Amino acid sequence: MASERVVLSLADQRPSLAVNDRMRDLMDQLSKSWRLNSMGEMAAILAHELNQPLTAATVYLHACQTDIARAGPIGDSAGRALDLAKTQLLRAGDIIRRMRELIATGASQLTEERVSSMVDDLRPLFDLIRQETGIAVRIDVDTTGDRVLADRIQFQQAITNLVRNAVDAVGDHPGAVVSLTGRSLADQGYEIRIEDNGPGIAEDQMDRIFQPMMTTKAGGMGLGLSVTRSIIESHDAALAVGRSALGGAAFSFRLTPVTELEAA
Ligand code: ADP
Repeated sequence: MASERVVLSLADQRPSLAVNDRMRDLMDQLSKSWRLNSMGEMAAILAHELNQPLTAATVYLHACQTDIARAGPIGDSAGRALDLAKTQLLRAGDIIRRMRELIATGASQLTEERVSSMVDDLRPLFDLIRQETGIAVRIDVDTTGDRVLADRIQFQQAITNLVRNAVDAVGDHPGAVVSLTGRSLADQGYEIRIEDNGPGIAEDQMDRIFQPMMTTKAGGMGLGLSVTRSIIESHDAALAVGRSALGGAAFSFRLTPVTELEAA
């Protein structure tokens, strides 16, 4: 019987411990920044929504005080109580305003970053998404002219939100495509696009989807796009939405490039 040689090649398929640590750090940072951003957004909504009833209540109390003042001494004690109530209402308004300032989402720290490097950090996260959903995010980020002004974590937060939305939109059909591209448009900035071949967004919904708490998902918070838009705006850019050539939605924005001369 001819002897057979079997060659076994063993390779450790587990991600290295260092990669795991880096990924855990990134996830921690992203989820901390997500919580802060969401709290900022919620505070802004609360401040906006509560402002009107608080002001109305103050006006009614003021009117009561005027009536009570006419009642003479009997109204004195009631008048004092109304004064106290008014002070408390004003305090409530102040607390909300201060909270909003404290967690201002616009506080991005813009430094010189490479888009390719910021996206590279997210690859393990995209791997995780692929494992969870079977959808591999196509990444095509041109390194030419990709030096931009950005807040690294905030940028990664924005990309993660847009990619997750795209993955949610395409569902789990076999031809699902989610793509992330980066291209230099010379003096028009460095453009980042996240596109998919999901159902897309109806023309009359394109403004509505940015409103806080607007969601079509069971269990959705409807904060992702409003937070993402705030992040992009704090980069002096605008988040555009339209139809993708792939058939679904396309979200894009342009970051300010740092030229080699400035970078030197
Ligand atoms: P959430 O993800 O919690 O719903 P978002 O603010 O991120 O909150 O999104 C708001 C809504 O915008 C989504 O519920 C969905 O209807 C719509 N949307 C966002 N991204 C896409 C996309 N890529 N394709 C289709 N619809 C989208």
